[in-house]
Parts: sequence; structure tokens; C-alpha cells
Amino acid sequence: MKGIPEGLRSRARRWGKLWGVPHLADSVTVEFSPRFRSSLGLCRPVEGRVRLAAHLTNGRPELLEEVLCHELAHVAVYRLHGRSVRLHGPEWKGMVRSAGFEPRVRFHREEGGFPARAPRPGFSQTPPGLRRVTDLLGDRVGGSFRASVSNGAQASP
Ligand SMILES: [Zn+2]
Repeated sequence: MKGIPEGLRSRARRWGKLWGVPHLADSVTVEFSPRFRSSLGLCRPVEGRVRLAAHLTNGRPELLEEVLCHELAHVAVYRLHGRSVRLHGPEWKGMVRSAGFEPRVRFHREEGGFPARAPRPGFSQTPPGLRRVTDLLGDRVGGSFRASVSNGAQASP
């Protein structure tokens, strides 16, 4: 178990059993990044790696739990179905619902704990006031996390 906050570990294990991927929680690497600005979480299902915005640990515990659930469900879907299903398709939605959350890919800014400020230029596709959970599949994005969609910079491998 790497990086899943202590208070969420038993829950993550329960989700894994629920979803038919019993070792999920013990085989996923969860990291927190202070650099996230426009997203709350990223997932690379192929490698079993999840990155979450660091500020989520200072916000409502329910939001952190929901974003973690969102990302872990991507890993579970990948392990059960490979690349044959859609990222936020029925399989993923079913898992998130079974864990007790309404499946969604955008969160209101006030929920996400981001400081209020004007949207950055060039990001008109995201409605003001909404923050997106961005998901990246390893087969679509080379070998490293794309830490921020705003500048396109990639973390070193
Ligand atoms: Zn997602």
C-alpha cells in the first residue's frame, strides 16, 4: 500500500473487493502533487498510478474520498476490461455508484478547494467555476504524467 491516506485504506480495500479486483488497494501507487491547478486527479491505469491534488487533503474528506474512488475505479476497469471500454463508460459508472458516489467528471470550484480566480486564457472549454478531474491513459500519453494541462509540461520520468 503506497500513499493511500490511512483513513481511506480500509475503504479502498472494500471498493476493490466490491469491484472484483481484490488486490486493487495494495497494488496502486497514490501520490499527491502540490502542482495541480486545473485538475483534481490524474490516473495512469496501465501502471496503476494515481495522482491527486495535494490540497484535497486539507478540504472536505468526502471530496478526497470521491476523487480517490473516481481514479481507483479507472484502474479497476482497466484491469478487468483492458482498453476495450470507454474511460467514463457504464463499467466505470457502475463501480463509482456501487461505492456510493454519483459518477461525475467535473466538480464545482468551491467544492474543489481552489482559490477563486479568473480562468486562465485558453481554457474556455472548461466552464468557469467548474474543475475537471482529468484522466490520462498510459497508452495515450507517453511515459510520464502530464502534470498540468495548462502548460503541457511533463514531469521527468
Ligand atoms: Zn475519470
